[in-house]
Order: sequence, then structure tokens, then C-alpha cells
Amino acid sequence: MTTSRKEPTPILLWFRKDLRLDDNHAFHAAATSGRPVIPVYIREPRATGCGPLGGAQEWWLHHSLAALQKALDALGSKLILRQGDALAVLEELLAETGAEAIVWNRRYDPAGIAVDTQVKKALRDKGIEANSFAGQLLHEPTRLRTGTGNHYKTYTPFWRALEQSGEPPFPIDAPDQLLSPLHSPQSDSLGSWSLLPTKPNWAAAFPEMWTPGEAAAREKLQDFIETAIDGYAIDRDFPDRPATSLLSPHLALGEISPARIWHATRRLTGKVPTDNIVRFRKELAWREFCYHQLFHFPKLSSANWNDRYDDFPWHADAKLFDSWRRGQTGYPIVDAGMRQLWRHGWMHNRVRMIVASFLIKDLLIDWREGEAWFRDTLVDADPAANAANWQWVAGSGADASPFFRIFNPILQGEKFDPDGGYVRTFVPELADLDRKYIHRPFEAPDDVLKRAGIELGKHYPRPIVDHTMARQRALAAHASLNNDG
Ligand code: FAD
Repeated sequence: MTTSRKEPTPILLWFRKDLRLDDNHAFHAAATSGRPVIPVYIREPRATGCGPLGGAQEWWLHHSLAALQKALDALGSKLILRQGDALAVLEELLAETGAEAIVWNRRYDPAGIAVDTQVKKALRDKGIEANSFAGQLLHEPTRLRTGTGNHYKTYTPFWRALEQSGEPPFPIDAPDQLLSPLHSPQSDSLGSWSLLPTKPNWAAAFPEMWTPGEAAAREKLQDFIETAIDGYAIDRDFPDRPATSLLSPHLALGEISPARIWHATRRLTGKVPTDNIVRFRKELAWREFCYHQLFHFPKLSSANWNDRYDDFPWHADAKLFDSWRRGQTGYPIVDAGMRQLWRHGWMHNRVRMIVASFLIKDLLIDWREGEAWFRDTLVDADPAANAANWQWVAGSGADASPFFRIFNPILQGEKFDPDGGYVRTFVPELADLDRKYIHRPFEAPDDVLKRAGIELGKHYPRPIVDHTMARQRALAAHASLNNDG
């Protein structure tokens, strides 16, 4: 591709986990640079660590890139898709297009940081203007520090510091004009990346719940602000209520910025009880805290934050793990959660805690097995939030839930899904069971089961483990660890 002598050389705009035009500082810098802009997305090779996307998120990525492509088309621009090692692809593109500048928004997972550092250094050494911007988080992970200059290890002081550090920067609107080069470089076709599952199409039901893309994310934020946030503080714990924002997958691939969400809640002061707004902001702050942990402890998804847990006596058991994954444990709330995950690539937060506790404490299966399964099956899989939350449940994390807090899946179900609506949706074989037994079918008398058309062991499994026994066993395992320590 050639550019005329008078035309400034192009600038590459490298999209990564920021698949949006709104509140995108790199996009803004490119659009206002006076140079023709070449937007590019690179599918980087599967790497170990926190870099690769799981299957469910690849489904999301496909649709998200299609939406981004459409938004750029409307500006007369074209998204270039390439695959391979980021630096090699960028060097190729710079050579092909004559571009002398590149911008992107920073990532904070270890693989992302490593690539960014390498790319910035290599390109600057060649005289290319390479600049990166903030935007994945409310604040850079190095910004909030304790009084002694350390990073935070507990959430409450972190939240206080975040609250007192002033409002995050105001979001910036997307420029509505973009200069494009006369000719665009060659691009892969999105379809050729085969991001969508085919045989079997396990994502067939995802569209029941999701529309990937920036426009849908903004709509979802608007809906949440107008309806669900009023009541959020209490309702957010009930999986059968439409009470949470459902913004997590949009945030995970950067279709919306946390600053845009944060500032949207400012308009609500005086209109919605404050506890709902604060509670919601505190959840956004948990996301920040997870990144804060990952940034300061890059091995978060593979190693215990608290190394006292390194000797925990896990029981690897492929059969039990499989029953958990397939939602066949015999505990309805656990099974409903695991089946929701499979059907929609997402699970309600309360239920994530219950199924994680069940895997770790009732089955004594290593939290890393659960983290990996979630990473592959969640559309919102996030290297920081997933690892930090698994470690939170396991007791091995920073500011973790104490190990002895072992969720009783029956009582959790009865408390947070009292009518069993959530269970009936995702475990349809229990749909006709009396409310009294919906979370404990194994205690239902024969005639009750018969009326509901259920034969235990045939239509629905008996419990794969006795919770009371399992609880004692988990506590004993933990005590052995303490004694050793
Ligand atoms: P809302 O209640 O509307 O919250 C708003 C936003 O705050 C969320 O979109 C999310 O970005 C953030 N948030 C809320 N709760 C948490 C939390 N506990 N930790 C960190 N951020 C939070 N969240 C992910 O985004 N990706 C993951 O891979 C992930 N894995 C998890 C694994 C386990 C074992 C557990 C217990 C939780 C996990 N979470 C994860 C956190 C939480 O379950 C989801 O963020 C939440 O359910 C998303 O739904 P929402 O957008 O409707 O949340």
C-alpha cells in the first residue's frame, strides 16, 4: 500500500481487550492524530498463563469483533484481522503500510503485560512512536497504595482508598470521524478463525441471554440503571431475580469501560437508595481488587496466594469432577448452577460461590481444576476475577473467606432460591417437585417423588457425597494442614 507524499503516514490502532469506540483513549488518540488510522486486532497464539481465551469467550469474541467491524465500517474504516505473535504481526503491518506510529490500551494480566513491554521496547528501538493508554480499570493497579507504599492485601482498606482517591477519570465520547488510508492492508476473514463451535454447537442457547458488542453493552447498562439497580443490594443474591447488571462479559472483553459504568451511577444520587449504588460500586471495586492482586501476584491462577495451602491434601477424582461439571451431583442448586454455566456460559454470583465451595470442600478437588473449567466455559472469564474468586472460596487467597466457611448446598438453596424457581429452570426433571423438597429431593417420600415423575438414580442422581460427612472430612483435611504448618 502506498500513501501520497503529502498524506501523513498512518497510525496503527491495536485493539485487544478494549473492543469499543466509546471511552477508548487509544482510539481517541489515533482519531485525533491527523493521521490515517488502521485499526487492527491480532489473534495471539494460545499461550500458557493468563493469555488465552476459553471456548465460550471465543464465541463472544467472534460476535464482538463483528460488532466492532460494523461500528468501524460506519466511520468508513476497516478492522484488519491478523493472527500470530503480536510483535511479528505489528512489524509486518508497519512495513506493509508505512505506518510510523501505534497506539493501544494497556492490559494487566501477566501475558498481556509481557507482550506489551516487549512490543513497546522493540518498536521504540526502531524509531516507531508507540504509546499506550489506561482504560481497562478505574485506576491503574499501581495507583492505590497503603500508607507504607505497599499494595493492598485486604479488600476493605482497598475500597476505602478507592473511594477516597477521587472519582475515576470521566469517560470520553468516541470521536465521530476517522481518517482512513486510501487502501487498507489485507485482513483475514473473521469466519476463517473458526471461533464458533459447530459440531456440537454447545453455544446454541447463548443468544437467549447475550448480544455481544458495544451497543448491547450500553443498552444493558441503561436498562440496569433504569430498573434493576433499585433493589440491587438485596436482590443481587437471589439467582432467580433479574437483579444484577449482566455486564461482566462486556467488561471482560472491554466492550464498555468501568469508568462509563461508574459515572452512570452518579446520575442516580437522590433517585435510588444510596445503599444500592454503593453496593454496586463495591462490586466494581472487587473487580479492581482482583486486578490489583493479579498485578502484584502474577501467578494468581496457578499458585496459592497463601503458600500454607500448598500442602493441602486434595483428592483428585475424575468421576466426581465430571459429575460436578455436568451438573449431576444430586444437589439441585449446584446442578442448576453448573447447567446454567453450560447453557448460557454464565452463572449467577451467589451460585458460583456455592458450586466452588462444593467442588473444593465437599469433593476436596483442587480449586485450580474449577478455575480452569470456568475459564473455558464462562463468557465473562477474566484472568483476575476468576482466579481471585476461586482462591477466595478456597481460603488460600488474599482476604479470603475462611476455609471453615463451608456452604451447605441445601440451606443455601432454600435461602436464596426459596421457591426453587432457579432450580426448576435449569434442572427441568425436578420442575414438578414440591417446594418443600426442591433443594432436598433425596429426603422426599416416595409418593411425593412419584407425583413429580421422579425416580432417584434414574431421572435425577442421588447425592454423590453426603454433605455432613464431607464437611467433617474437609475440616479434618484443613486441620491436618494447620498442624503441619
Ligand atoms: P453485577 O452484580 O452486576 O456486578 C457488576 C460488575 O462488578 C460485574 O460485571 C463484575 O465486573 C464486577 N464483580 C461483581 N462481583 C465480583 C466479584 N466477586 N469479583 C470480581 N468482580 C466482580 N467475574 C468475572 O467477571 N469473571 C470471572 O471469570 C469470574 N469468575 C468467578 C469465579 C468464582 C468462583 C466466583 C465466586 C465469582 C467469579 N466472578 C467472576 C465474579 C462474579 O460472579 C461475576 O462478576 C458476576 O456474577 C457477574 O455478573 P454481573 O455482571 O451481573 O454482576
